[in-house]
Amino acid sequence: PDAGSVVLQADEVTKRFSGLIANNAVNLTVKSGEVHALIGPNGAGKSTFFNMISGVDDPTSGSVKLMGQDMKTKPSRAFAALGLGRTFQHVRLLGQRSVLENVALGAHLRGHRGWMSAMLRLDRREEAALLAEARRQIERCGLLEYIDTPAASLPLGQQRIVEIARALAGQPAILLLDEPAAGLRHLEKQSLAALLTQLRAEGLAILVVEHDMEFVMNLADRITVLEFGTVIASGSPAQVQADPRVMAAYLGG
Ligand code: ADP
Ligand code: MG
Repeated sequence: PDAGSVVLQADEVTKRFSGLIANNAVNLTVKSGEVHALIGPNGAGKSTFFNMISGVDDPTSGSVKLMGQDMKTKPSRAFAALGLGRTFQHVRLLGQRSVLENVALGAHLRGHRGWMSAMLRLDRREEAALLAEARRQIERCGLLEYIDTPAASLPLGQQRIVEIARALAGQPAILLLDEPAAGLRHLEKQSLAALLTQLRAEGLAILVVEHDMEFVMNLADRITVLEFGTVIASGSPAQVQADPRVMAAYLGG
């Protein structure tokens, strides 16, 4: 997509769980070449929103458009096929497998129902192409020296970057990152921020759910704040930081 074009558009997205409104008419767009952060206290509805914009769950009402296409009732593999890549709140790597193998799996995920059966059906040429693509993404993410290292023996900060490389291997237009800075050391956060800054400059759209305010304020172009399922503020880091409702939500509990 062209820089600045809307990659993901959520309009009036609402999710009810029996009596509870977990998302209440949430509007949010993410553009190519932009980092958009979604923040809010625990239970605000961030994960619920992520699930709906990645096809894990359907909204009760409202619409999700990816690359201009209405994703109503589409399964998550259709989201991946249209260019959505994601990481998870808890690292999901095959710990005993090398960085290369982990990333190669991501290169094969896009648009496929089951990577395991897909991997088994690859011929030699397809496998070589897959490994070459994985290597490109590992290099892009600055992990080339660890390419043969078992994922579990890397520090958490690098494991998170392996997960990003794996998502990138699926050629996404948008990356969804669920709390990528959680549990990282200061230098690891800086490396992660540098990588995300680079990916943004390369034209990726990035939506990040994150608790670490310093990380978000330094990185995000735009921030949307959720509280009890409702957007209470949206704007630049400076605008959001100065918003009395945001301060109340964070300080007043
Ligand atoms: P966050 O990720 O911002 O911490 P969640 O999206 O996980 O918040 O949760 C928002 C609200 O929805 C919470 O009150 C949570 O208990 C509720 N919730 C989330 N998932 C479900 C579910 N599958 N069934 C019932 N309630 C849920
Ligand atoms: Mg959550």
